[in-house]
Amino acid sequence: RLSSKSGKCRTRRQVCQLILDHFDSQYSQELGDQWGSVRSVLLNPHCWQHGALLNRFGDLAGVQSHLHSLGYHSLVPHSHSPASRSEPGSSHICSPLRCLLPEGVTRLPTQRHRAGWLKQYYLLNAASLLPVLALQVRDGEKVLDLCSAPGGKALAVLQEAMPGLLRCNDVDESRSKWLLKTLQSYIPPAVLSTVTVTNTDGRAIGSAEPQVYDKVLVDAPCSNDRSWLFTPGPQQGELWLRARTQLPHLQKDLLCSALAAVRPGGMVVYSTCTLSRGENQSVVEAVLTSCPGVELLDLEEELIGSLSQHFTFARLQPPLGHLVVPEHGRTWGPMFVCRLRRLY
Ligand code: SAM
Repeated sequence: RLSSKSGKCRTRRQVCQLILDHFDSQYSQELGDQWGSVRSVLLNPHCWQHGALLNRFGDLAGVQSHLHSLGYHSLVPHSHSPASRSEPGSSHICSPLRCLLPEGVTRLPTQRHRAGWLKQYYLLNAASLLPVLALQVRDGEKVLDLCSAPGGKALAVLQEAMPGLLRCNDVDESRSKWLLKTLQSYIPPAVLSTVTVTNTDGRAIGSAEPQVYDKVLVDAPCSNDRSWLFTPGPQQGELWLRARTQLPHLQKDLLCSALAAVRPGGMVVYSTCTLSRGENQSVVEAVLTSCPGVELLDLEEELIGSLSQHFTFARLQPPLGHLVVPEHGRTWGPMFVCRLRRLY
């Protein structure tokens, strides 16, 4: 039987004042009044919520009903096939993905890796499913997850559909090993045979494999606002702030590489877990200006409508993509998502 614990922080984490000052000055400008409530969530890890992505390959007998009895509810209604995403004329979507959200800050225990047994659920910030829902992977498609470790979104792709090929890539060797272990803990060997894990610089994949994939996810390295606020010590804080100025170059190169790797007509989803305009809309803007034959493909109203019941979206300027911002009681995010289509 599953037990759950409330999300209390045993050791109180220290906020890095340097990073907080930086965020205050940047985000009060970029988010206006919304920054105050986002700030108070980011500063209080004990109020962060954790969703449970159920593993359709695991033994789910009893898990779902137990979670419902604990007050968990579905992020989106369940459907058996990724193609039947919404009823004609419906203003909501459904998905084969089963993600359950707690009423409060209940956090399920993390399940340990056991050889020969598949884990039943993956704990996550539920907003991190938005990029996967936006990618709309269909059975048989060739999919590239360019920056894949530790594998949360790759796992979600495999909950939604059975791609003909899923290539999970990450430049970092030890994170790639972690990614492989994640996949082995959740995915049966027969399905894993359609997944390849590679360890190369994502910036090189577009020129090495032009027009190969139907869908590409760029879940880019970014300044992770949640963890950066708790950077240990001002020296590390300074290092990170310096690194932050370089991230948009890397992000733009990764996105251009993804657009080279996708076939004409294929889709690329770009996502980050930062609020920063410089790593979100500005990167997309720069790519739209410099890559010919690429168009912005806005997310369906049904998707945004369904998720607005659980997530709070920011008003973005310029209005490129969508940004989930955490709020008390619905602490999902930050998560920025933008979808692009290669035309030719
Ligand atoms: N998609 C992952 C998930 O859902 O679990 C999280 C990805 S994390 C936000 C970004 C990843 O990008 C890191 O694991 C990092 O090692 C990887 N990365 C950084 N630079 C890269 C590059 N040039 N090419 C490929 N991966 C890169």
